Amino acid sequence: MDVRIIVETTFENGTTKTHRLGCISRPFRQTKPEGFGLLLEDAKTMLWQLQNAIMLDQIEEVSEESRICLGCDRVRAIHDYRPRVLDTLFGRVHVKAPRIRRCACKAISDVDQSGPFSPLAHYFPDRSTPELQRLQAELGARHSFREAARIIETFVPCAKQMNTTVRNRLGKVAQVIGANDRAELAVDEDATSQALTVFLDGAHIRCRPEYQRRHLDVVVGKIESPNMSRRFGLVQQAARSPAKQLRQALVSQGWDGQRPITVISDGEPALPNLVRRAVQGPVRHILDWWHISMRVQHIENAVKGLLQTQNFPGMPELFKKPAETLRWCIWHGKVMTAGTRLKVLLIDCSRISKIDAEVREAAARVKARCRELYSYLANNFDTLTDYGWRYRNGLAISSSRAEGCVDEIGNTRMGKRQRMRWSPKGAHQVAVTRAAVLDGRLAVSQMAA
Ligand SMILES: [Zn+2]
Repeated sequence: MDVRIIVETTFENGTTKTHRLGCISRPFRQTKPEGFGLLLEDAKTMLWQLQNAIMLDQIEEVSEESRICLGCDRVRAIHDYRPRVLDTLFGRVHVKAPRIRRCACKAISDVDQSGPFSPLAHYFPDRSTPELQRLQAELGARHSFREAARIIETFVPCAKQMNTTVRNRLGKVAQVIGANDRAELAVDEDATSQALTVFLDGAHIRCRPEYQRRHLDVVVGKIESPNMSRRFGLVQQAARSPAKQLRQALVSQGWDGQRPITVISDGEPALPNLVRRAVQGPVRHILDWWHISMRVQHIENAVKGLLQTQNFPGMPELFKKPAETLRWCIWHGKVMTAGTRLKVLLIDCSRISKIDAEVREAAARVKARCRELYSYLANNFDTLTDYGWRYRNGLAISSSRAEGCVDEIGNTRMGKRQRMRWSPKGAHQVAVTRAAVLDGRLAVSQMAA
């Protein structure tokens, strides 16, 4: 059998036009399993033909429509036609774009310009459709540029995709996202009076050799208010103003410049300092519970090891008890008590370490772990809090949600296993776009542009 595809366009003014697209033939004598239905290649050819027909008709209609002068309702003359190539998701369309002469009546829209104008230039400043740009950026932020190009080419009849095109589009889309964040500044109507929490973490990615360093830090995180959340990613060296970018992200989450902001991160001071600069004021920094808990766990394990030594001399309770209560103390914000417990453990370990080599070794391990936790707590003393109270009141105590962002924004595309080296700018663009894709902000930003 033969399947003929005919498309009929009805224009706004009532006229119709028929396009005869291709024909799919399925001779029944030679039917093979893959001869049933529509195949990917047929579908791609047909989609391209369909796109061509729709685009040409639409451009014709829009061009005709824009000839009418808004001032005097007369039809303006066509100056000439320029050949233009438009890239769409469903193929490259060659069009003849008319340029229209300005009207003698000097209507409002024609006042300060002279010479013919092209109505199409307004719709396709980049000579490609927003949908194509969005898809290129979205896939480029997830896969290597070459792989992204290949994926798009596999499924849609678009023109040949170059990895450089995908990279450049991603860069442009990242810029648009940044620009729209700025535009959003005024919109903070549904600001609630509850606090915002910023979860911060960093991802380390390989840096390109010409930057004289091995690694780049991508700051990733999540801003959460009770009913909204927003991811962000940036590279401090490449962002024009990282603090400003973060401030804009905060504002778009309903921050009014006054509301208290809580930052949860590990002991690295650079991250909360970035938020301080963004907020231009005080910020409450809370040390991530998980990082503390992990260090307490190390002590518990070391003590377990000590108690299992053959000639363990002391009373097991003397060591087991402090290790157990340590976690409880820190969890409830009793840091001084925790410090005392640590010191007691240190003294007790020193006391028994004279007995034999095995015990001495195990005791030294406990001591090292204790000192580690002690200095960690001492260095971050101001950022400790009553974690139990926060937990019972449904407040965040851990930056684990930012760690999810490390994977989603940093590692999937730029992780060390990807074997790609990055420039600060390239990494920044990918991080910005990826965060927007994950939040579902990409389509919205592009529409606003
Ligand atoms: Zn006119």
